Amino acid sequence: MDLGFALTCSGNCESISAANHKLNTNAIAVYTSQKKNKFIAPALFTILGLIFLIFGFIENNPVFGLTVISGLCFFVFGIALFVIQGRLMKKINV
Ligand SMILES: [Zn+2]
Repeated sequence: MDLGFALTCSGNCESISAANHKLNTNAIAVYTSQKKNKFIAPALFTILGLIFLIFGFIENNPVFGLTVISGLCFFVFGIALFVIQGRLMKKINV
């Protein structure tokens, strides 16, 4: 059978091949979008962390209260995410 994107036997192989084709098409769409937007989440966490840290240091007494500790967590997590996303998306070729 000629499915347009593949030649298969008729019957079960047609649906298997069609499903594989759809999976690949969807995967390409997801990977393309993820690669393009790979730094959105890290940027959000890092910026939130900085905002919390700045506000914490300006307004908090004592300094190591909830705001500063949260800010520190957000910031460190954001930086870690930058590294993780950068490495992961480098391996993905779309
Ligand atoms: Zn077959």
